[in-house]
Amino acid sequence: MTNVEALPALTVIAALIAAALYIASYLSLLRLLRFPRNWVTTSTSELFITGLLVAATVAAVSFSPQGLDFTALAVSLGFFGVMFFTLAAPAIAFQPASFPVEFVAKHADHGGFLLAGLGLGVFAGMAITNVKLLAVLMTAAVIELTWFLHQHWARRQRPIYTLNTHDLAVLETQAKGNLVEFRRRHSISELDLAGGTVRWLGCGKRTPPCPFNLYVNRLGLNTAPCCREHLSELSHFVSTALTEIGVVHWLEGGSLLGAVREGGSLLDWEDDVDISVLLDADMTWNRLASGLAKRGATQGYYVDLFENKGLVAISFDAPRPWPFRWQHNRMRGEIRADITVYRQVIQNGIAVLERRSHKGAMPATENGGYGVPPELVLPTTTIPHIGGDFASPNQPEAYLRILYGDFEDVEYTYVNPAAAATRREADVAHKDVKK
Ligand SMILES: [Zn+2]
Repeated sequence: MTNVEALPALTVIAALIAAALYIASYLSLLRLLRFPRNWVTTSTSELFITGLLVAATVAAVSFSPQGLDFTALAVSLGFFGVMFFTLAAPAIAFQPASFPVEFVAKHADHGGFLLAGLGLGVFAGMAITNVKLLAVLMTAAVIELTWFLHQHWARRQRPIYTLNTHDLAVLETQAKGNLVEFRRRHSISELDLAGGTVRWLGCGKRTPPCPFNLYVNRLGLNTAPCCREHLSELSHFVSTALTEIGVVHWLEGGSLLGAVREGGSLLDWEDDVDISVLLDADMTWNRLASGLAKRGATQGYYVDLFENKGLVAISFDAPRPWPFRWQHNRMRGEIRADITVYRQVIQNGIAVLERRSHKGAMPATENGGYGVPPELVLPTTTIPHIGGDFASPNQPEAYLRILYGDFEDVEYTYVNPAAAATRREADVAHKDVKK
């Protein structure tokens, strides 16, 4: 016991290093979550870096000059496993996921804090004396408590909306008439049934977004009135920004379908904004990306760039300063515009407008992309949509036929088949009334 005085300073430094490594692992994971959120394949190099940071944190906690601390190794591995699963669940659940993922995604906002508390409880209960492990657990607890309080506070700022007749009819059909039970079973915290009226606690720029990949795609509800409003606002922002940048662009997918078939309205189950752009030697990726990033920053939209995928994702929520910026990826829902890049290529002597990612039934190209004949798109024209004029493919109907076949028949793309079948009756009744 000769070096007792020297120990505390070294211990404090080691604990700070472990805490810093935890923060780095946490941020790296948040950054990684943008891939599953945007339905694109996760970057292997970023996955590797996150794994490396986690391994470094576990090693820093478990190894000391005295040797390996098996208890700290087991506790830190277990803690990382459960905590990172909880953090990732909301992003994974952007696509239909298994019950445990969906369940954890629903409870992730307070789940992280509960877990960190549980970790500290295990630490105290097992009378563990590893100060580095304590530092990691306390760092996680502070991060999770801050996140939980922020979300809780933001939820209280939600504006109140009423549901229109059609929204209500679809909701009641899906709930089989029992709104209270439906609200409870799916934890729909936005649905306010107090006082016998049906109201919707809507999302805003600084509140958590409605998780409509669940509400719209899996439960088969109409897009919430708040989200419809924000999807429109975001559409106008993107359209104006692309026009100012001077890039050739056009409404794509569901957005174009709404403009053509629904006479300039969003689809009732719309869950994003789709706009495509054409890049060439003059209008480069960098020019597009910097133009959008600049406008997003000044006008309060979160811009995420995926150069390898030829995709820019722009979200309605306001970006926060780094490192809080990446916490955006923890949110369950998202109001987003996907801007997909096309380039003109020559295939067997014939020009094709080609994109990297699959869309509807668009035919594959020999480069492994997907393509349409340029004359369907160019020169672009305009089409009235949600109260403005939007750029459209030159032949919008022919374009939609390539994507969806007979697009005049209503197909509930991305909606769970059972939920789609149920909502059809409410939609048919509604269309009959409108006639
Ligand atoms: Zn909303």
